[in-house]
Amino acid sequence: MRTAVVVGAGLAGLAAAGGLARDGWHVTVLEGRERVAAPPTALVLWPNGRRALESLDPDGGWPAIAAPLPDGGVRRPDGQWLVPPHTRPGAGPAPAVVPLQDLYDALVAGLGERVEIRTGFAVTTVRARRASRPAVGDGRVFLEADLIVAADGIDSTIRRALAPEAVAVGSGFAAWQAVVPGFRLPDFAPAQAAGGETLGAGYRFVAIPLGRGGFSWVATAAGAPRPEPPATQLALLRRWFSGWHAPVGELLAATHPEDLVPQEVRELRPLPRAYGFRCGPGGVVLLGDAAHAMPHHLGQGACLAFEDAATLRSLVATAEPGAALGDAVEEYDRTRRPRAATVVRQTRRMSAVVQARGRLALRARDAALGSLRPRILGSAHGLAADWQPPDRP
Ligand SMILES: Cc1cc2nc3c(=O)[nH]c(=O)nc-3n(C[C@H](O)[C@H](O)[C@H](O)COP(=O)(O)OP(=O)(O)OC[C@H]3O[C@@H](n4cnc5c(N)ncnc54)[C@H](O)[C@@H]3O)c2cc1C
Repeated sequence: MRTAVVVGAGLAGLAAAGGLARDGWHVTVLEGRERVAAPPTALVLWPNGRRALESLDPDGGWPAIAAPLPDGGVRRPDGQWLVPPHTRPGAGPAPAVVPLQDLYDALVAGLGERVEIRTGFAVTTVRARRASRPAVGDGRVFLEADLIVAADGIDSTIRRALAPEAVAVGSGFAAWQAVVPGFRLPDFAPAQAAGGETLGAGYRFVAIPLGRGGFSWVATAAGAPRPEPPATQLALLRRWFSGWHAPVGELLAATHPEDLVPQEVRELRPLPRAYGFRCGPGGVVLLGDAAHAMPHHLGQGACLAFEDAATLRSLVATAEPGAALGDAVEEYDRTRRPRAATVVRQTRRMSAVVQARGRLALRARDAALGSLRPRILGSAHGLAADWQPPDRP
């Protein structure tokens, strides 16, 4: 039986493990933490992410937990429209939003019996020599397989060993996320209930309705992450965003300190020189944030990870260990690197828009946003809408 070791039980690793197992691979997932768990946040699935998940598991349970994402437009803090709602290009399946913990549960439920998960196993070494089977270890145990899937996130141990040129650096932002249940919120007017995005000087707030009155929100501020305890950070957020149009203040007021998920926004610069490393009867591949961590402005990190997983699954579907699997590993590299580079380029253009701070820069941004933003978003949505999973043999 063909064997794969997937390192990391985040979204990328769980999606890849399930996809491979469904094609008959024996899969072992190694997770460094003591349990497989997601933070209490939510995730937007753009058309590419939805298509990838559907191709990985046509019977998967995630659609039942997804809510449609309304197009709430883009506003200034005073509520003036920079980009009116309902201008999002409509191609492809409609974007959806899912609570992350529910999505993890759906992916774990889809793993089946051929997947063994070992938690508390933090990989510290990787062997990727041309002539021997690829392997990973934690200093005590060494596991060999035909295929090693490195889905161990932005600080990937495996990437640092195989592509040390790609370094995780700060993007110049801090982000905070939270999910607020509907019972804590007032009834919003329809324009507020649709959520949307608001851009201020170096600040951004995205309000995302989750269905049944609940909301998820993401606040971004230029600068370093804050060292203070959550209650102080929440007080700071309320101050920074005070006076912003509804529902920003209401969402922050209804958030409890323990709901807050703060994060430094980081990215890989440069991207790794390769995503596939042929060795022995197969090789090692990089997936998800391990391969292409990027700022969250277009909400594409996980969608791209699902594309990675769906592409890998198709390429190795019928590849036997030996020449065929080695070729598939090289094809994965050829397919995924240009795709990731294009999405990362788009994301960096959005970073520049979000980061505008000085009065002149802001005025120029606001003046240009009406045309610039739909253009950037139009091409970003094109990137998301046009992607199709590769044909399966
Ligand atoms: C504020 C914010 C909002 C976002 N919004 C969206 C969105 O709306 N849509 C979207 O598509 N993307 C979004 N993203 C991006 C998305 O969250 C990430 O791209 C995605 O979660 C990455 O998943 P991953 O599995 O590659 O990495 P991770 O989630 O980091 O998972 C890596 C796993 O590997 C484990 N691990 C690490 N090292 C080892 C080791 N040595 N041995 C064993 N295990 C190890 C970790 O414990 C972890 O479980 C957002 C990101 C941010 C910061």
